[in-house]
Amino acid sequence: MSDVTTVNCPTCNKPVIWGEQSPYRPFCSKRCQLIDLGEWAAEEKRIPSSGDLSDTDGWSEEKEL
Ligand SMILES: [Zn+2]
Repeated sequence: MSDVTTVNCPTCNKPVIWGEQSPYRPFCSKRCQLIDLGEWAAEEKRIPSSGDLSDTDGWSEEKEL
């Protein structure tokens, strides 16, 4: 069975294989991930929130539950 799930990279819209070979999923590459993180961080600054949400475990998606 070669049932491959793909998603579209949120940054550049390229299809990304949802699997071990795509460590940056749903992004196609680290570059796209960083671009998106940058935008996200920029937005975050506009939203008043409690605490500092930057570089903590929130972004490491090693396991999905
Ligand atoms: Zn991309």
